[in-house]
Amino acid sequence: MKTPLFLYNSYSRTKEAFKPLDKKNVRMYVCGPTVYDRAHIGNARPVLVFDILFRLLRYLYKEHNVTYVRNITDIDDKINAKAIKRGVNIEKVTEATIELFHKDMDFLGALRPNHEPRATEYVSEMIDMISKLISLSFAYPTEDGHVFFEVATFSDYGRLSNKNLSELKEGVRIENENAKKNPLDFVLWKPSNLEEPGWESPWGRGRPGWHIECSAMAKDILGDQFDIHGGGIDLIFPHHENEIAQSTCSNNMKKFANFWLHNGFLKIEGEKMSKSLNNFLTVYDLIKRDFSGPAIRFNMLATHYRQPLDWKFERLVEAEKTLIKWNNKFEPKNQTVLPMQILNALLDDLNTPQSIYEMHQLFNNEKFDDLSNACRFFGFSSKDIKDGISIPPDISEKIDKLVEKRNNARLAKNFSLADEIREDLLRAGIIIKDSGQETTWESGQKLEIKKLKKL
Ligand code: AMP
Ligand code: ZN
Repeated sequence: MKTPLFLYNSYSRTKEAFKPLDKKNVRMYVCGPTVYDRAHIGNARPVLVFDILFRLLRYLYKEHNVTYVRNITDIDDKINAKAIKRGVNIEKVTEATIELFHKDMDFLGALRPNHEPRATEYVSEMIDMISKLISLSFAYPTEDGHVFFEVATFSDYGRLSNKNLSELKEGVRIENENAKKNPLDFVLWKPSNLEEPGWESPWGRGRPGWHIECSAMAKDILGDQFDIHGGGIDLIFPHHENEIAQSTCSNNMKKFANFWLHNGFLKIEGEKMSKSLNNFLTVYDLIKRDFSGPAIRFNMLATHYRQPLDWKFERLVEAEKTLIKWNNKFEPKNQTVLPMQILNALLDDLNTPQSIYEMHQLFNNEKFDDLSNACRFFGFSSKDIKDGISIPPDISEKIDKLVEKRNNARLAKNFSLADEIREDLLRAGIIIKDSGQETTWESGQKLEIKKLKKL
């Protein structure tokens, strides 16, 4: 690669040249949604911003060398409250919300991440991590069934948010003050009453705190250290600060993620989006108003990801018109080669507004071939949007091996083993197809990477 990719690292507060730890497995973790309500367009911002980064990494390092994890937070007090209000169980709320989240994000043309781990599937990994933190004296249990991380034991606490402990203290919520050694200490585990979801643990029946979820899931899927960690700017403190503390201390590593990337906040017509101001806008509201997925993407990416974004309907209508104009000139082709000036803009900390400016230039200069290629990369072509789920390379190898094992079993007339393998794969979302001598496999809609890993 001639020009390296430069990314603004919130941790060092500078633009740095990106160099993956392993260019055969470039790893990115982004904090995903808490699934109690339909996604608003603010939630769609990190999804679309990191979708562009995912696409760029796949372009630079090849698709099969990039692993993108975006978790689903399905343990949360807001979820519990909603389930109680509706008189249904928690899974009803989370399953339905996850399905709608997928529908909305597919509509926006966001590629599905390689892994979408759910907190409920990782409780035992979280318990292990908390136990380790206690045994290393970074955390302490209290008599009432809480476990807290002791912030004073971690000298780098506050480095990401660039604040000292007394400044940080001003920003923390006052809760469980009596049980904590220090107001900044944060919850790793909390007790559950009988109405609340709970898991057995060494500290009694309870549930994990929010921050430990991401540390445990990132470790399990990406390892103790990986390349990029992303999310909205509101997550810097306390969420990401706490993730760093938990992960570096329990893994005994100097570093957790090498790069921290944060998208700015989205406002609507100049105002903070909120239910009380009656300007709360979901992705589904836009779909109902017949806006297209590509136009919503275009409007989102027309502002640089680190800038605050002011969502204006007027601009969305403009985006729709521009894309209709461009789509009329599209050249059908299967290959995506990014025009140099657009690649250069993206290599400079994902400069998407500059990329869009260059696309206008391509249109004006009648370079429709280049324009089509760029639009295809950005997901601006209405024809290119489909639900895509990608499978990470190690898992795909594993599936190949299982398919081979099944074929051998069939040759040896061990049909019960062959059927068992087929069933196992099917339960994990992989469909095996036999046609003549050839056996192929494909992923269905409900891919369960965790199950695949265990096969
Ligand atoms: P949540 O479901 O609230 O945990 O948020 C999921 C993601 O959406 C996080 O990365 C948040 O930082 C991000 N997010 C939430 N609201 C906004 C907003 N108004 N603008 C930009 N990002 C947001
Ligand atoms: Zn997180």
